[in-house]
Amino acid sequence: MHAKAVFFRGFGRIPVWSFMAVVQLRLCFLSCTSFSRCAKICIGLLIWLIAGACSGSSTQSESDGPATHHESDGSSFTVLVFTQTAEFRHESIPAGIRAIKSLGDEQQFRVDSSEDAAVFTDANLARYQVIVFLNTTGDILDLNQQAAFERFIQRGGGFAGIHSATDTEYDWEWYGRLVGAYFDSHPPIQLATVTVVDATHLSTVQLPATWTRNDEWYNFRADPSPHVSVLMQVDEMTYTGGTMGKNHPIAWYHEYDGGRSWYTAMGHTTESYSDPLFLRHVSGGIRWAAGETKE
Ligand SMILES: [Zn+2]
Repeated sequence: MHAKAVFFRGFGRIPVWSFMAVVQLRLCFLSCTSFSRCAKICIGLLIWLIAGACSGSSTQSESDGPATHHESDGSSFTVLVFTQTAEFRHESIPAGIRAIKSLGDEQQFRVDSSEDAAVFTDANLARYQVIVFLNTTGDILDLNQQAAFERFIQRGGGFAGIHSATDTEYDWEWYGRLVGAYFDSHPPIQLATVTVVDATHLSTVQLPATWTRNDEWYNFRADPSPHVSVLMQVDEMTYTGGTMGKNHPIAWYHEYDGGRSWYTAMGHTTESYSDPLFLRHVSGGIRWAAGETKE
């Protein structure tokens, strides 16, 4: 709020204070024995009056707080699910969009989806609190679109990357640091056991400590662990084809360049998007990216 508005809002409280001040002034004049004493009391009352108006204004401005993103339809935030692919296209994309939209219906956040990189402008991105890269692949944004996305994160925006979000934009260094790692290789789809290493995060709090599931288990070009907070690891002893060793990160988060970034490497298969545990994992990640911290 502008200082001017705060000032006038504060003085909106004056009628109550003025009434009390007038009563005090009348008492003052009735009881005053000298002009100087009366003047001192009147100055004191004037200071009290102004202080009252100002304290009224500070209470008001605290309740206004920073700009909130609550929508008029009751949604707590708005998400853009982006699914453009320049390389491999996952069959699970439509199921993923449907699943995130129904998570939004259940948990009161709005979801738009797009395949069109032209949505990456400052004006359009300003409508969203979180941008999800759902199984994007390859080089999908041009330089202007990349710059708009960087500014979105720098303004405090949230990013949630799912599965091949790490198989995206290999030549855009800023994005590589945002998402945390780049895809390297994967063995065939198979069952493996995932271990939760941080059970306090919104995206893991409802998961079992160990979780056996079917997916395409990514190896990364480099271990992101030094730069991110790892949430889950996949146990390479429980499947064949892992190359990351004992601590193989498979989901993580970090604060980055003014915003928040969350990533899960799971989510190749269509079945993932009807698995209640995986969907809790994803909705927790999206909500954390939106700035929520509690259930
Ligand atoms: Zn895949």
